[in-house]
Amino acid sequence: MSAEKREEREFRAEVRKVLHILTNSLYTNREVFLRELVSNASDALDKLRFRVNRGEKPLHDDLPLEIRITLDKDAKTLTIADTGLGMTAEELAENLGTIAKSGSEEFLADLSAAATDNEEKKEDAAMADAANIIGRFGVGFYSVFMVAKKVEVTSRPAFGNENEPAHVWTSDGLGTFSVDVSEGEKPVRGTIIKAYLKDDCAEYAEKYRVESAIRKHSAFVPFPIFLDGEQVNTQPALWREPKTSVTKEQYDNFYKSLTYDSKDPLDVEHISVDVPVQFTALLYIPDSKTDFFGAGRDFWGLDLYARRVLIQHANKELIPEYLAFLKGVVDTEDLPLNISRETLQENIVLHKINQVITRQTLGHLEKMARDDVAKYDAFWHLHGQIFKLGYQDYANRDRVSALLRFNSSALDTAEALTSLDAYRERAPEDQKAYWYVTAPNREAARLNPHMEIFRKKGIEVLFLFEPVDEFVIDGLGKYRDWDFKSVESATPQDLEKFADKEKSEDTAPPLSEEDNASFDGLMARMKEILGNQVSEVRVSHRLADSPAVLVSADGVSSSMEKLLKVMQKDDSLPVKVLEINKDNPLLRSMLQIYKANADDKILAEMTRGLFDSCLLVDGYLKDPQMLAQRTNELLTNAARWYTEVRKI
Ligand code: ADP
Ligand code: MG
Repeated sequence: MSAEKREEREFRAEVRKVLHILTNSLYTNREVFLRELVSNASDALDKLRFRVNRGEKPLHDDLPLEIRITLDKDAKTLTIADTGLGMTAEELAENLGTIAKSGSEEFLADLSAAATDNEEKKEDAAMADAANIIGRFGVGFYSVFMVAKKVEVTSRPAFGNENEPAHVWTSDGLGTFSVDVSEGEKPVRGTIIKAYLKDDCAEYAEKYRVESAIRKHSAFVPFPIFLDGEQVNTQPALWREPKTSVTKEQYDNFYKSLTYDSKDPLDVEHISVDVPVQFTALLYIPDSKTDFFGAGRDFWGLDLYARRVLIQHANKELIPEYLAFLKGVVDTEDLPLNISRETLQENIVLHKINQVITRQTLGHLEKMARDDVAKYDAFWHLHGQIFKLGYQDYANRDRVSALLRFNSSALDTAEALTSLDAYRERAPEDQKAYWYVTAPNREAARLNPHMEIFRKKGIEVLFLFEPVDEFVIDGLGKYRDWDFKSVESATPQDLEKFADKEKSEDTAPPLSEEDNASFDGLMARMKEILGNQVSEVRVSHRLADSPAVLVSADGVSSSMEKLLKVMQKDDSLPVKVLEINKDNPLLRSMLQIYKANADDKILAEMTRGLFDSCLLVDGYLKDPQMLAQRTNELLTNAARWYTEVRKI
């Protein structure tokens, strides 16, 4: 190469800045440079194909459209060649010396945002994020300088004159580049990029290393990629294939390569849509659970492709949060390849795709619930917890409601599930509400004293086992005109229209008129003993077996009340109504004691003991020492009386 032809040029200032960051800061995830070079090659082939399709004739029109990567371990070089559009000398200088569309500024702004967002993360993590966004700002090519100490780009334009020489762009990625007539290896058509690897990046001259990076990032590029002569992107873009031609095994294998899940998916949904937006999607329902409320909080989204080129992993704009369990890919024709991250947010195309996916997925689940109950139940046990958040999707609220599942008092096991519609069908005529109880498990629900009247009347009660359930129910308000009501809020009028199904075996004889009056006195005395701890003591109509229960005066259920207290950092005990069961043997005995001596110390002890056990059932126990002390006193007395009566 003759010295007078050599022309050393300065990179533009913004390119120098980007290069400085790429070469000095990004040490993690450097393999993405391969993705960038491959996608540039793929773009160049796409552009060529486009012009050929319009009838233009390129140089060597019999050349296949392909990408070839060759490695030289000894020389520590990686070369990537494409038979695409190519570049003239001017284009080499222009395209590889400046950054289009103020991409560098956006990139730099985003980079510093990523760094501040991640203050608590390690610097490495912030930089890994940065490496992930390189491709979105038209600075992809420069990422090669993360691994190369020198790069040569030799190119021959596909629609140029064959007698023109090829040109080579050379740079060490520091401050300058040059463009010369190429004396070395020349492409017949297209571009050859040769990277001289840095000493600590020699791994990119290893076949296994490059192959794994390509399989990871560029598996679905629509042109063949050869690595040292062997094609590496053999997997077809499965989502683009017609549904009827894809086997279950292909679907399952694709899922596993996508998610690294060792299990087959529970189900697959293959979507192909032309209006209102063109896209295909391959979506999976995993057969394993992700904890979206804990460690897996951020671990969702779909992979977004534009014409088979990966644009972004785990894009969260494509689905609503309540479908976060879905894994898969979306490929659209309606987005440009070089779309930036800002444009992806609140992007109208993505918004439309989101709406279509939501509707189709609800349809898919409805069909599953209808045709394969066992599978739907399995889905619910795995993903119901996140799916419930769909109550916030106002537009699809009824469909989401119909897909909700609950355990209930009418079902035999803790795993069995009912829909709201099935609940309605079992309900007696005149029932106009979905009754529910919140409890940590079935046993606790069964022991809840508020359940007794429902058991007696044979009215089914839905069990809400998770704290979020009550927000869901609250948010829904109604479904098909029926309200959701907590058993704690049930009034006698609510239930009097339903006949008793179950007769209590040994119902106590009714009280005489005089005893009824004394009972009122007993209740007043109990209120006196408990003071401000209860707002009222009254007769209960909801209890069959339990002696007493606490009822909130304003209808707020006790679990909701606890949540609110936690949120308000309030650890006081709620003041509630104490309802007592007039027919219970304990209360009958207390009545006798009261009649004999209203000020008997034992009456006060029993009243406090009864109140304690109600608090315990309600889930409040602030003072276990006091409770233990009172229990011991009562036991001591009981034991003494027993020995006296039995004359032991
Ligand atoms: P982007 O691909 O987002 O435009 P890059 O930094 O990756 O940004 O590439 C810059 C430009 O260099 C491309 O737009 C393209 O014009 C040109 N280019 C890069 N690689 C090739 C190639 N293999 N063939 C033809 N042109 C290329
Ligand atoms: Mg690019």
